[in-house]
Amino acid sequence: MKNNKCYICGSSNLSDTGYTLRDSDKLRVLKCNDCSLMFLSSFEHIDENFYEDGKMHGSDCNLSNWQESCKEDDERRYRALRRKMKGKRLLDFGCGAGGFIDLAGEIANVYGLEKQSSLSEYFKEKGLKVYKTIKDLEGSFDIITMFHVLEHLKTPAAVLTELSEYLKDDGEIIIEIPNSDDALLTLYKCRPFADFTHWKCHLFYFNEKSLRLMFSQIPVKINYIKPVQRYGFANHMYWIIKGKKGGHVKWKFLNFLDFIYKPLLKLLHKSDTLLISLSKSL
Ligand SMILES: [Zn+2]
Repeated sequence: MKNNKCYICGSSNLSDTGYTLRDSDKLRVLKCNDCSLMFLSSFEHIDENFYEDGKMHGSDCNLSNWQESCKEDDERRYRALRRKMKGKRLLDFGCGAGGFIDLAGEIANVYGLEKQSSLSEYFKEKGLKVYKTIKDLEGSFDIITMFHVLEHLKTPAAVLTELSEYLKDDGEIIIEIPNSDDALLTLYKCRPFADFTHWKCHLFYFNEKSLRLMFSQIPVKINYIKPVQRYGFANHMYWIIKGKKGGHVKWKFLNFLDFIYKPLLKLLHKSDTLLISLSKSL
């Protein structure tokens, strides 16, 4: 079934962005002209078992490579939340290879939710408490984290509403999500990046405007939506000039400019990532 209405505002005033996907030539990236939400033209390729079977990472996925690629983000998130989560009960929704909960488990009572079946054995060996569905959870949580997960869900508002029921009254949901106002897309209009960054697992592409509207429709209160810039000047120059990823490694000599470049992008609301804090609306 084709998506012919905006998930958030219900508008049928949609346009085709013209972007292609890195891994599908059938799907289109649509944009709602009213609330600016972007989304794929159909979600039918994501069936019940898609994540359970580990299809997001392909058949040649290697756990240690996966963990290595997440290490920097896991550590950044751990450092940012260390003080807040100490001694607390925390749930990481869509915990992936478990790098963050492994770190957080040192100081907090940590649980994970992850659908991918092939990881169950690994979680058991590591002694990590990871469940498959929200229904398996008991009790309530001080903190629920969702790192780059919301954009994969077919019904993000419904899932957040359900999760908010597992949040303590003074608890907090912390979400990290790609920003569809990313400078490479909206400032530089870098076509190779656009055709790379859109892929069939990301069903939705949010910016601050569409997120605020979605949160206003569910029982949560926004504490903040903050810009975060993960990639720096070298990465961006490489995309613009060479049309390829990996500039942050290949043109490392430019990284010293990040101390001014990253804050500038945040100031312009063109960051690649948004960090959100929500609490329950009581
Ligand atoms: Zn809309």
